[in-house]
Amino acid sequence: RPEYAFIGRSNVGKSSLINMLTNRKGLAMTSSTPGKTMLINHFLINDEWYLVDLPGYGYARRGKENRERLQQIIEDYILQRESLTSLFVLVDSRHEPQKIDLAFMEWLGENGVPFSIVFTKIDKLGPVRLKQNVEEYKQKLLERWEELPPVFVTSSEKRSGREELLDYIGQINASLR
Ligand code: GDP
Repeated sequence: RPEYAFIGRSNVGKSSLINMLTNRKGLAMTSSTPGKTMLINHFLINDEWYLVDLPGYGYARRGKENRERLQQIIEDYILQRESLTSLFVLVDSRHEPQKIDLAFMEWLGENGVPFSIVFTKIDKLGPVRLKQNVEEYKQKLLERWEELPPVFVTSSEKRSGREELLDYIGQINASLR
């Protein structure tokens, strides 16, 4: 089954987004990565696809060694997982583009891993500011890329952006059938 992975800096709102997407109801939670249950969690959705919860990156308090170990686990999963269909990189809509996120996207590009950008916590911004921030982010990406990845704007608080994300995943799944 196809896998869609979610990743972002710690505190970006990943757990909240995953809860919103899955409703945390009637889902079979399994782990197909033995020994890494705590780090990489798989949620089987509608018996059709896996939502994969990857560890948050760039958390300074983890310490250098831990951070590097996590980094390795993330990289191994992304590069070795044949059923990984697409990756969602979460970024906080309030912040300007962060070096660590841009570097990660760069790395994805170099390795030919398709990804989308998911802006989180949009309820914390007014519509004008949100539009500005998203636009600035796109401009930043266009400095390095010729094409923009798909972009989603979400608020787990307000449950917005849910349908768009699930539709997008549904469309890819349909195209794989
Ligand atoms: P994670 O570390 O990336 O899994 O982030 P969490 O999902 O735990 O969220 C980090 C913090 O941001 C928590 O205090 C959440 O309540 C808050 N948060 C997450 N999503 C939203 C959102 O859409 N809107 C608002 N206002 N707060 C959010």
